Amino acid sequence: MDFPMVERADVVIIGGGIAGISLAGRLAPHRDVVVIEMENHLGTHATGRSAAVYIEAYGSRAIRLLSTRSRAFFEAPPAGFSAVPLVHPRGSLVFAGSDDRDRLRKEYALAERITTVQWLDQDALLTCCPVLRPEAAAAGFLEPGARDIDTDALLQGFARMARQCGTRILTGVPVSEIRHAGDWLVIAGEWEIRADVLVNAAGAWAEEVAHRAGLPGRGLQPMRRTAATLPLPPDLARATADLPVATAVDESFYFKPEAGDMLVSLSEETPLRPCDAYPEDLDIATALERFHEATTVPRARPKASWAGLRTFAADRNPVVGYESTAPGFFWCAGQGGYGLQTAPALSALAASLLLQESLDSSGVALARALSPERFGIVNSLGDRCSAL
Ligand SMILES: Cc1cc2nc3c(=O)[nH]c(=O)nc-3n(C[C@H](O)[C@H](O)[C@H](O)COP(=O)(O)OP(=O)(O)OC[C@H]3O[C@@H](n4cnc5c(N)ncnc54)[C@H](O)[C@@H]3O)c2cc1C
Repeated sequence: MDFPMVERADVVIIGGGIAGISLAGRLAPHRDVVVIEMENHLGTHATGRSAAVYIEAYGSRAIRLLSTRSRAFFEAPPAGFSAVPLVHPRGSLVFAGSDDRDRLRKEYALAERITTVQWLDQDALLTCCPVLRPEAAAAGFLEPGARDIDTDALLQGFARMARQCGTRILTGVPVSEIRHAGDWLVIAGEWEIRADVLVNAAGAWAEEVAHRAGLPGRGLQPMRRTAATLPLPPDLARATADLPVATAVDESFYFKPEAGDMLVSLSEETPLRPCDAYPEDLDIATALERFHEATTVPRARPKASWAGLRTFAADRNPVVGYESTAPGFFWCAGQGGYGLQTAPALSALAASLLLQESLDSSGVALARALSPERFGIVNSLGDRCSAL
């Protein structure tokens, strides 16, 4: 008979994407932590399939606040966090044809309240992004402070931070059973792990993990998003390398230069059950059609394509905090399309909530906006949640 390998920890985190690993990094100096990841490598799912951009004027108010609070970490991470810079200049451009000018103005007014943006009339827009066709691009606005994120450096930096303080990261072990009797017992492959606190950082599988623990979900919905890379002729690759990420204001597609190719995404949100998402041919074809209608980039067969699941709560804010109906069950899920650009601030906030540290006033407002109890239940801060 084989005996299970038994571990005891203060905190067990289910999920080795950016949510689980960044929280492990933050908690490791304070608590004994074990992370469990079902895949053989960290970041196999959403974390490894992103467009890797940091755009401050993007998402709900809570997301924008978390992104702004993350900027300092991206630009000056703690000593020893990463041997390479975490971010590189990119810029983010939102553009519209003449039919969509009103919508563009509204988005611009919103963006202006968050960060530095520049309005571009058609001449300035075509100078900023010369591959756009004039008939598709009447005006736009630029967020010059947007960045490319080195997502691998970010993930590995947090993993190193965690391991240096003794965190054990177990890979290739799917959690199959969760029991609660005083503490939490998590069974994963050959492992049996007991912990006082269980963190649900399972991305698209977060609802399943809650159900496995006998708890209600929070209506988190995984949504597929597809991307493909197009090879560019060498001259064009050089000429476009520094273009900003360019998004149609109706969010029908976006594109950005990516290591000598052009990454194109349909920006779609197709609800799916949690799974290893694959791209649909029709979605790739539609994305490329829209891209070629709006730009002068020559047609070519895509070099690579992929899809990933972005997981959202109904109000599109993450779900972070203790579950009121089960002591020691902590949510860290629903990062949607912003999990990388918000990771530094979100992990710091999540760690403070888990450790029950005091928060500054904007931290308290964020905690309310992200509380698992906000869906109509009085939250752990003793208040009914109001939208941030
Ligand atoms: C095409 C695309 C573009 C994107 N672009 C951006 C962008 O530019 N900027 C940005 O900030 N964000 C972007 N995102 C969103 C970002 O990728 C996600 O918000 C983020 O990666 C979510 O991280 P996570 O750790 O919650 O999820 P995941 O990375 O999916 O991690 C969850 C982990 O839990 C594990 N798991 C699940 N169930 C179990 C179990 N039972 N046992 C053990 N392990 C389990 C999974 O294997 C998985 O590794 C994009 C996403 C996509 C798909």
